Amino acid sequence: MSHVFHRQCNQKLPAAVKGDGVYLIDQSGKRYLDASGGAAVSCLGHSHAGVREALHQQIDALAYAHSGFFTTETAEALGEKLTSLAPGDLNYAYFVSGGSEAVEAALKLARQYFVEKGEPQRQRFIARRQSYHGNTLGALAVGGNEWRRAQFAPLLIDVAHIAPCYAYRDQREDETSFEYGQRVANELEQQLLDEGPDTVIAFIAEPVVGATAGVLPAVDGYFKRIREICDKYGVLLILDEVMCGMGRTGTLFAHEYDGITADIVTIAKGLGAGYQPIGAMLTTEEIYQAVSSGTGFFQHGHTYMAHATAMAGSLAVLNAFENEQLVARVGTEGELLQASLKERLVDHPFVGDVRGRGFFQGIEFVADRATKAPLPVKTQFHARLKRSAMENGLMCYPMAGTIDGQAGHHVLLAPPFILSRSERDELVDKLVASINHVSEEVY
Ligand code: PLP
Repeated sequence: MSHVFHRQCNQKLPAAVKGDGVYLIDQSGKRYLDASGGAAVSCLGHSHAGVREALHQQIDALAYAHSGFFTTETAEALGEKLTSLAPGDLNYAYFVSGGSEAVEAALKLARQYFVEKGEPQRQRFIARRQSYHGNTLGALAVGGNEWRRAQFAPLLIDVAHIAPCYAYRDQREDETSFEYGQRVANELEQQLLDEGPDTVIAFIAEPVVGATAGVLPAVDGYFKRIREICDKYGVLLILDEVMCGMGRTGTLFAHEYDGITADIVTIAKGLGAGYQPIGAMLTTEEIYQAVSSGTGFFQHGHTYMAHATAMAGSLAVLNAFENEQLVARVGTEGELLQASLKERLVDHPFVGDVRGRGFFQGIEFVADRATKAPLPVKTQFHARLKRSAMENGLMCYPMAGTIDGQAGHHVLLAPPFILSRSERDELVDKLVASINHVSEEVY
């Protein structure tokens, strides 16, 4: 009997005992190809020598020093490196231990910025439906996943949610994808006008939606329009790149693709590549200066902020990206992965859409390709797919999102950046076999 409170209380999980490149190995010796990097985390695979060496060196020298008393050389180096690589003037990095912590920090910094500026009436956030920003209460409140929010709704701050940019479902036949993007972005302006623009702190969105929509990039021009609207009304733009950032989409920051800059960006997952828990919030000179020359103290923090060992691990991760030219590789190899998925699945009766960018690819399953009707909840397609894939030695990330209150089934793929071509073929073979198996089981 396990005394670990596992999240999936009723499932007996295999014990992972070893990592070997893109594979995880369980106690029986069975190998699982990690096609989702866990949850888009393990971008360097599970046995990167450079990261392991950097962690050992840091622990030998100093594992941890409280950030209220000391900075460390590794924190300074990581801050300098990240901000030098970030678009715009994201000149400051605030280090925490994960994605939800980074989002909480972003929400509180955005609020404190306006308090410091003498605009305390700004108290509201606008976010999007079908988004995920984390499971802590603030992050859950801005998130737009009905299932995750439902039982905690009475505990959440009131946040306005507008439509996501979801061309597969919402683009009309009489509009181009650009026109669609402008139309849906303009919902932000309407929401701001309804709220009273000077009561709003920030708009938060994932540049490429991950955990609630099976990977959903916005159409070209959407985020440019969002940026324009935020600027027009003096509202901050927070981009949550916890899942899609750190090279995953083929650029270090996902929003580089959109050609915009943000006021606050959150990152996590790929930043530590799974070797240490870490997250970060990056912000601009202007926001930092408002706090620094105001109260001089950001009223927020955690015990393990800027943990020295995590800093060393992440520095080694970023060095590996550079030395092994991995981010550019993700762009080109990601296109091949998508092409291969499309080739194998284009005629599958339950595959509605294959989409994504880089090594961040998603498949949306439907009951009817013509009407795009989602698969019924009772099929539990996502849970079956997870089980079948694990049996076939494949880790992928199936999920049930919500589409207009109905279940939508997706699978998210986020393989390690080092995935070789033969491993890619194995991934696609095993995934297609698992999808076929579950499709027969369901119908
Ligand atoms: N933001 C996004 C976009 C995420 O995808 C996630 C996790 O999946 C989070 C925030 C929360 O991160 P964590 O699980 O590390 O708290």
